[in-house]
Amino acid sequence: MKIQVATIFPEMFSGLDIGILGKAQQKGLIEVNAVNIRDYTTDKHHKTDDTPFGGGAGMVMTPQPLHDTINALDPEHKVRRIYMSPKGKTLNQSMVERLAKEQSLLLVCGSYEGIDERIIELDIDEEVSIGDYVLTGGELPAMVLINAVSRYVEGVLGSSESTSEESFSDGLLEYPQYTRPKSFCGLDVPDVLLSGNHKDIKEWRYRKQLEITKERRPDLYYALFPDSDPLTENKKKGKNKSAKKDGKE
Ligand code: SAM
Repeated sequence: MKIQVATIFPEMFSGLDIGILGKAQQKGLIEVNAVNIRDYTTDKHHKTDDTPFGGGAGMVMTPQPLHDTINALDPEHKVRRIYMSPKGKTLNQSMVERLAKEQSLLLVCGSYEGIDERIIELDIDEEVSIGDYVLTGGELPAMVLINAVSRYVEGVLGSSESTSEESFSDGLLEYPQYTRPKSFCGLDVPDVLLSGNHKDIKEWRYRKQLEITKERRPDLYYALFPDSDPLTENKKKGKNKSAKKDGKE
């Protein structure tokens, strides 16, 4: 997968050269190309911002350098173009999996008070937020998106299990994980995980997923079980049901 980024801070993306994403780039599984919007300015001071029409605090990124950068990177508009923005749709697992199916992405990072609205109208397919808070620029949001999407590119993670049994993969949060030693600071690993009984382990993990999700993310829990509560039903029936996959963005 090829990911191009339009930014005024391309050097920030060197942070993606380490760890799993670094290896994925070395293997050619993903290619990240961060391009400086300032290189496309036509004025002699390489200005990328100006004061907002109508007044107000801060500066706004001017349209010309952004428009020229985006269209130099993707002249025929063959690539999905995403503006990282707190006003966008919030990134979630379904969106990550959908974007991972694209061969190529172009991410646009704003700065200051954001970008001129006409760029969104002219050049952007989709606005994506990474959460309900405001950062100083779109670089960290773009890196979050790149990291999340890259995990779904074939070969990037060591084992195919890695994305299939974790939080959000079945609409629930993940069960608690333990490793050696069996006892640490007076806290023991639950007996069931040492029992070797795979059926009991599976049931225990699923029940923990239900409990944790219901407690921490009731929004996810009740979206998955709108008509019935498997935790209270299980108490009645004494058995588990499997979770449906949450395909909603
Ligand atoms: N004035 C804008 C507003 O109130 O919506 C915020 C602009 S923010 C200071 C500057 C840039 O950071 C934005 O253009 C965007 O690219 C990026 N940004 C900030 N928070 C973000 C978030 N939660 N998700 C995605 N991008 C974000």
